[in-house]
Amino acid sequence: MPESSKLKAVLNGKCPRCKEGDMFKFGAYNLRNFDKMYDNCPKCSLRYEPEPGFYYGAMYVNYAFSVALFVILGTVVFYVFDNPDIWVYASTIFGTVILITPLLFRYSRIVYLHVFGRFKYQS
Ligand SMILES: [Zn+2]
Repeated sequence: MPESSKLKAVLNGKCPRCKEGDMFKFGAYNLRNFDKMYDNCPKCSLRYEPEPGFYYGAMYVNYAFSVALFVILGTVVFYVFDNPDIWVYASTIFGTVILITPLLFRYSRIVYLHVFGRFKYQS
């Protein structure tokens, strides 16, 4: 499988095996249902939760994304506003995190399943 296809599957939230079936039932900004996942791939029936509690590990991916976001936004705010007060950093980072929470949640799970779920599927 070419790397671009894997990257495309991750970016589009597709199944790690067939890369065609959706992982999530609704859009990211359907705020009542953005976290609802299919139990199995609609195309190839791959089970999306290889073991109970599998997605607890996605919290660490979310943490890594959050730290990267804080560093990037902090750097951008520092240069754009020329070393502003602390409230400018806090409000920019807090506002951005609120806006992209559904995306952080979903991409944490997608990346975690694509990276760590593979070990379960190889046997
Ligand atoms: Zn599939």
